[in-house]
Amino acid sequence: MIIEEDFFYYPWENPFENNCNSYIIGGDVTVLVDVGHLKHLGRLLASMEEDGLSPQDLDLIISTHCHPDHFEALSQFMESKVLMAMHREEERYLKDHGKTLYEMMGTTSPRYRADFYLEEGILKIGTIDLQVYHTPGHSPGSLCLYWPKKKALISGDVVFCGGVGRTDFTGGNANQLKHSIQRLSQLDTEIFLPGHGEIIMGRESVLQNFNFIRQNYFPIL
Ligand SMILES: [Zn+2]
Repeated sequence: MIIEEDFFYYPWENPFENNCNSYIIGGDVTVLVDVGHLKHLGRLLASMEEDGLSPQDLDLIISTHCHPDHFEALSQFMESKVLMAMHREEERYLKDHGKTLYEMMGTTSPRYRADFYLEEGILKIGTIDLQVYHTPGHSPGSLCLYWPKKKALISGDVVFCGGVGRTDFTGGNANQLKHSIQRLSQLDTEIFLPGHGEIIMGRESVLQNFNFIRQNYFPIL
């Protein structure tokens, strides 16, 4: 579904199974953020099709982190021309302890490509400027994306509407998570787009959410 012009949102709404929210940033290039679980890819592609977007339109897939519910379906794009990008630290983690999450699910890390690495700073894709933030805590190479033109923050599994990312997985770090959330809270965000759960529209509501997190989660992190 469309959030604003050239900006699409694919929420995961089935409470009985886990998967991530996906986002598409469009314009002269088309960027998918977080492709999700392999077994749910068909649903994402069907929803995209309803918005007139086909997998062939994709120029780039950005993964906020390498957990299976955000990353696994990359394997289906190996033969495609689409570029794939992630943080270098996250790939290091995936090759090391990160793969245990896949092993816990009885599988192995999926096939993927890191055609280039995303680093803290500006990412220029076509005429789109995105700000990349390295936000460890949920995983070592977690990243968030801020789109200044829309004042939109894609926060991955770092911070949600009314919650924060887990830090009990291997590679998690509560102090780092707190620091990452603190940094994100400084941004001028009007559209808050987390990796799971509800999105938040409106600057005041976004600030209220950060205040709620600070009051209720920071003491226990
Ligand atoms: Zn995760």
